[in-house]
Amino acid sequence: MNIITIKNYINGTLVMPTSGQYLDVYNPATGAVYAKAPDSDAHDVQLATEAAQQAFPVWSKMSAEKRSKLLLKIADGITANFEKLALAESIDNGKPLSLARTVDIPRSASNFYFYATAVMHHASESHFMEEGAINYTLRRPIGVVGCISPWNLPLYLFTWKIAPALAAGNCVVAKPSEITPMTAYLLSEICIEAGLPPGVLNIVHGLGGKVGQAITEHPSIPVISFTGGTSTGAHIASTAAPKFKKLSLELGGKNPAIIFADCNYETMLKTVARSSFSNQGQICLCGSRIFVERPLYEQFKADFVAEVNKLTVGDPLNEASNLGAVVSEAHLKKVLSYIELAKEEGGMILTGGKRIQVEGICKNGWFVQPTVIEGLPFDCRTNQEEIFGPVVSIMPFDTEEEVLRYANSTQYGLASSLWTENLSRANRMAEEIKTGIVWVNCWMLRDLRTPFGGMKNSGVGREGGWEAFRFFTEPKNVCVKYGT
Ligand code: NAD
Repeated sequence: MNIITIKNYINGTLVMPTSGQYLDVYNPATGAVYAKAPDSDAHDVQLATEAAQQAFPVWSKMSAEKRSKLLLKIADGITANFEKLALAESIDNGKPLSLARTVDIPRSASNFYFYATAVMHHASESHFMEEGAINYTLRRPIGVVGCISPWNLPLYLFTWKIAPALAAGNCVVAKPSEITPMTAYLLSEICIEAGLPPGVLNIVHGLGGKVGQAITEHPSIPVISFTGGTSTGAHIASTAAPKFKKLSLELGGKNPAIIFADCNYETMLKTVARSSFSNQGQICLCGSRIFVERPLYEQFKADFVAEVNKLTVGDPLNEASNLGAVVSEAHLKKVLSYIELAKEEGGMILTGGKRIQVEGICKNGWFVQPTVIEGLPFDCRTNQEEIFGPVVSIMPFDTEEEVLRYANSTQYGLASSLWTENLSRANRMAEEIKTGIVWVNCWMLRDLRTPFGGMKNSGVGREGGWEAFRFFTEPKNVCVKYGT
């Protein structure tokens, strides 16, 4: 098999890492190495930062219209390479090709379309004073910003940071996850094709502890936008905070789905199956703790298990597969260890619970059955810690107060979903639940204008809409007195 060699994108060209060293990149569905990615270090980050610094004066002063046109070309480039990118994402991550086609790649293009057009409407505030003065707030690009992203939605989350950072007039040094570097590499080819000026976007591949750390520490990168695990976020904050860097942290979750007996049952059942196992449960927004009002519990349990048993786990490239492989062997072991822990904690496996051996070319792939567990207390480790795999726990509850206590009991506060036809209850619960995102009678319905992010240990700050523009610009108030 031909091993693909990924390159860094620095100063407008595709280059080898200065060390000449590479990391293995695996296809999770086969367990085999299929590509190698640069094992870059602080030296490559330095080159990328210098290129970004050089590009900044022109890029930051370019008219919004010209910047917008260039970013639209990148969006068009993603759309033009739709099938190639979807296939690459599926092979790199293990996710079903159908999911890459319907979620990851359309959304990556949308991120660029959205911010390329937003910049044309971006305006800042002014404040009149009776004393005969006017304040106006300048919102100017900051400089070189660092964007670090995870493996679960590789191009989707990478572009979710890069597009607003560039639209706001910054230059970027970005690092995709070393586990899923392929579509970021293909994006660099698209940027070259689109005519993005050299140095405006630089993509440095490599390990978190080397490349990510060098970006976080770099004195000429005053802004860090990070999405990943909570403990990595804590480490990044401890490095960046004493340097007074601006930080956006999108971190882990342990999201509750709360189901009341009066819900629209059929819609709920289908959606909760999706919110539990989409992308093998590896979406930060997946609901992994399912609380069901007691009168509905037994019926839900039977129907949900039947629904989950209809899901097919298999070759991600096969149209019939609902679930593909989990992202790595290490992650497979982590997920399986949590299933063992659940058993030790008194949980009963209602369905799933095991690794799957898929026939044919995927026989060595990292597949796990969608797993439903019951009988666990709300405060046990299985129900408190992020598993980030196809594993959910179902629990009954009796009152709103009780389920709120369960839902709010974890260190996380990213997203929640509520299922009820009672409007007052939905609003009451939405007010009390401690998550940055609340879905009522739906899941992962995303409007890019809305604030996106978590409370508590799920993050600091919000992405999306004008929130991202505020983050990626420096406000400066100018007070002009014109009266006597
Ligand atoms: P991770 O924290 O291991 O890695 C994320 C990125 O950080 C990678 O690019 C990695 O190389 C880099 N990194 C690692 N160590 C670093 C360091 N010392 N300095 C700088 N960068 C470093 O996370 P992951 O395993 O790739 O992703 C899964 C996690 O991401 C889950 O916890 C999930 O909930 C979270 N996530 C959150 C959101 C959100 O929007 N809140 C979205 C997707 C994923």
